[in-house]
Amino acid sequence: MKPITIRDVRAIVTCPSGARLVVVKVETSEPGLHGLGCATFTQRPLAVKTAVDEYLRPFVLGKDADRIEDIWQTSYQNSYWRNGPVLNNAISGVDMALWDIKGKRAGLPVYQLFGGKCREAAAVYRHADGRDPKEVEDRVRAFLAEGYQYVRVQMGGYGGRGWSSSWQPRPAPGLTHIGGEPADRVLRPAPEGALPGKYYDPRSYLLSVQTLFDHLRCQLGFDVELLHDVHERLAPIDAIALAKSLEPHRLYFLEDPLAPEDIEWLHTMRAQTATPIAMGELFNSPREWTPLIANRLIDFMRMHISQMGGITPARKVAALGELFGVRTAWHGPGDVSPVGHAANLHLDLYSANFGVQEFAGFQDAEREVFPGCPEVRSGYLYPNDRPGLGVEIDESEVAKYPPFEGPDEWTLTRRPDGTPARP
Ligand SMILES: [Mg+2]
Repeated sequence: MKPITIRDVRAIVTCPSGARLVVVKVETSEPGLHGLGCATFTQRPLAVKTAVDEYLRPFVLGKDADRIEDIWQTSYQNSYWRNGPVLNNAISGVDMALWDIKGKRAGLPVYQLFGGKCREAAAVYRHADGRDPKEVEDRVRAFLAEGYQYVRVQMGGYGGRGWSSSWQPRPAPGLTHIGGEPADRVLRPAPEGALPGKYYDPRSYLLSVQTLFDHLRCQLGFDVELLHDVHERLAPIDAIALAKSLEPHRLYFLEDPLAPEDIEWLHTMRAQTATPIAMGELFNSPREWTPLIANRLIDFMRMHISQMGGITPARKVAALGELFGVRTAWHGPGDVSPVGHAANLHLDLYSANFGVQEFAGFQDAEREVFPGCPEVRSGYLYPNDRPGLGVEIDESEVAKYPPFEGPDEWTLTRRPDGTPARP
């Protein structure tokens, strides 16, 4: 094949589903041959766009588009300071786009370039939440009826009971309800003058999760695989208590019971419970995931492939996990573009140590902007088997969905006394 070079690179920001998505388009010297990659960092999309347009673009223009590994290594090292969000996202976008181009050049779906399928489709998990255990149960049953076998369960707003839907620190007693109970019973009032924010009460949350799982296993039995995301909202010792108390409920995994800042506590957690642990969506650096895999401290890796540097490092860490019995469960919420979901899926299809794939579903507007979205049938996600990643972008649709300005509100989080907290 005739060599091709990179002719243009640009980042496109669009918001068809309420989450700001960043997609990188790499064009080549061969007319009409281009690739797409996901670089989504939904809280800071314009920082990523600047990194792509102002720094990576001039760095990679004119380079041989087939030399994916070389471009990855030199892009990574060229900034000198590395392993951070923004720059990693930018590299992810270019890297996925180059894999997309290589697949199109070969006339093969990207999973074929990795070695071919280990499975026909990827089992996905969906998110069921509700104000009380019965409402969560009903939503789980609805997913089961659609053929899903894995469901992540959360109660009382995002992350669990104790989370206030109100922006004000002290919901008026008897007026605002959280999880079906008067707010003042589950969210301790803030001191006078407390600043606005999303308030949550770790204590209420901790106690409610046990109640939720007691109810669900009693009503649903053990045939359905249940998952739960702690979202790093507990003190480490409380997270250990939760993982222990949930052990009889046989979770498929407990996600982010600890923050990356608290990973030394994983040794204590592992010594005390066999509840499977999933971590990784906030990881930036190999120094964060390598010791956890090599010391068998986690069971599932959850990296955001649009953040860790793309398909190139994801293949390496997936292979490392295979050697240590750690499975993949790549991050796949609504703030991953359909291009990023396709990258997840191509890795899922080939990795021997695939576990499960998070999937938020696609809205109609996303399908309009991104023709070729993977399709879910009876709980499994299927690729479209076109060459490359299989997903395109309709740039005439992009402008219909401009990104909103300003910060994400849900990450302005506080505990009941007003203390800033992790979202
Ligand atoms: Mg999570």
